[in-house]
Amino acid sequence: MLKKFNILTENRYQLVDITEKVEGIVKESETKEGLVLVFVPHSTAGIVLTENERGLKNDWLEIFKRLTSGVDFEHNKIDNNADSHILSGLIGQGRVLPIKDGRIVRGTWQQIFLAEFDGPRERRVMVEVIRNS
Ligand code: ZN
Repeated sequence: MLKKFNILTENRYQLVDITEKVEGIVKESETKEGLVLVFVPHSTAGIVLTENERGLKNDWLEIFKRLTSGVDFEHNKIDNNADSHILSGLIGQGRVLPIKDGRIVRGTWQQIFLAEFDGPRERRVMVEVIRNS
């Protein structure tokens, strides 16, 4: 089962909690055991699992900035978003999580985030539920 939803981002770098949306899709699928793939079909965004805490979200944004500052990117001659492509590749454009007893298996502080690296934009998130039972 493949479902999609869109997210409008507001900032160049931003973390958007999409846990409830993904959990809703898993619930709706009535899958007891299986896997869920959360994927963004974009080369300047990503998916990351982290705690939804304001300070930590700011820490991530600061690290994104520092990781890509001070580099004379060649790609910036084309469209000025080399940092966005690099961060997207480093963070990864998807995650797979287990489903057990009808719920996504995740730690208390493991929320699912869309990571925006080239906003503001409209992003598409694809959620594929793979059912074992
Ligand atoms: Zn580009």
